[in-house]
Amino acid sequence: MSTALSGGEDYPEIRDAVRAICRDYPSAYWRGLEDTGAYATAFVSELTKAGYLSALIPEEFGGAGMALRAGGVILEEIHASGCEAETCHAQMYMMKMLVRHGTAAQKARYLPGIATGELRFQSFGVTEPTSGSDTASLKTTAVRDGNAYVVNGQKVWISRALHSDLMTLLVRTSPVEAGGKRTDGLSVLLVDIRDALGKGLTIRPIDTMVNHQVNELFFENMRVPVANLIGQEGKGLRHIFDGMNSERILISHESLGDARFFLGKATAYARDRVVFGKPIGQNQGIQFPIAKAYAEWRAADQFVRMAAAKFDAGEPCGEEANIAKLLTAEAAWNAGEACMQTHGGFAIAREFDIERKWRHARIQRIAPISTNLILAFIGHGVLGLPKSY
Ligand SMILES: Cc1cc2nc3c(=O)[nH]c(=O)nc-3n(C[C@H](O)[C@H](O)[C@H](O)COP(=O)(O)OP(=O)(O)OC[C@H]3O[C@@H](n4cnc5c(N)ncnc54)[C@H](O)[C@@H]3O)c2cc1C
Repeated sequence: MSTALSGGEDYPEIRDAVRAICRDYPSAYWRGLEDTGAYATAFVSELTKAGYLSALIPEEFGGAGMALRAGGVILEEIHASGCEAETCHAQMYMMKMLVRHGTAAQKARYLPGIATGELRFQSFGVTEPTSGSDTASLKTTAVRDGNAYVVNGQKVWISRALHSDLMTLLVRTSPVEAGGKRTDGLSVLLVDIRDALGKGLTIRPIDTMVNHQVNELFFENMRVPVANLIGQEGKGLRHIFDGMNSERILISHESLGDARFFLGKATAYARDRVVFGKPIGQNQGIQFPIAKAYAEWRAADQFVRMAAAKFDAGEPCGEEANIAKLLTAEAAWNAGEACMQTHGGFAIAREFDIERKWRHARIQRIAPISTNLILAFIGHGVLGLPKSY
């Protein structure tokens, strides 16, 4: 990778160490997993053992207690190296919610195990088939019965549920009262998947265009101890939203890594590939889209740093987190497009490893939040335009 694309100057030791791990997981590893639909167990355990997945867990619970930016740098380097942080990123982005809203007993019970890797905290259950982006109208219910909640309903697109021991689950614990807020009455439960599987919880994998390990979840009288309620009953959506700025900023780093990956491949190939007796990169039709994508990546990179700095300083950063997510997803997609076009027919050869990353980069414009919903937030939340929903 050229110096211009080597990533920022901050956390150089972390960047080097993550890159060193990733070198042992080349593109053939990821293609092999796609062929069988297998989970990246070896990769995730190595990152866990090296302590990278506990970067955001406070030191008192066995983690590194690092800044959000450090977590982001880890994810960025994974992606810039061609690896897939989607295999394990949820543990980082859910951590802020558990640390902020979990009880002392919950933190003492779960965080040390998550820090050592004994417990996998990789699943986050919000989306439902009938409500989609309209989270407040989700239909999965949890009704109190003695010292447990009884959960009934369905979720969709829930990543890594078969490779996680714990899941945060957003459920409706009370109906919206007449004249009340739609966002009230939702609560977050911490589900121990090991206890629940086969006892009210059914998980069915969904076959998709990427090896993202997404699933449909069905709940039929699944019991969750009341002690596993995270935060306040009825205020769950607020707790989830609290964690969303960190999620947006962390995942933005993945797109920055994707952009670097594509730009590195595109520039190398544009220099080397000779057609009509000259390197194709000499043609402005090839050179300019790469140059433009580079400029977009640089601008998005600066924006992400600013968003992360605000988050780490404890300042409000909803606007910055959302804009960072938008800009990085677009920058990665445009870099992917330039890379694809530069490679001509070879772009679709699996061996070149561009099409795999291209498929992944496309998803960043849909999940965890779609581009339209970010624009809607900017439109009504920042600019005060009328709301579409
Ligand atoms: C690979 C992958 C992994 C995922 N992992 C998880 C997970 O682990 N946990 C989880 O809970 N969810 C997960 N999701 C779900 C993801 O968060 C949703 O797909 C996403 O929020 C969009 O919801 P939807 O698919 O229901 O789209 P819909 O809400 O049906 O929207 C469809 C389209 O309509 C647009 N739209 C809707 N309303 C408006 C509006 N008012 N204005 C403009 N446009 C609008 C949307 O932007 C979108 O483009 C995952 C999804 C994918 C693809």
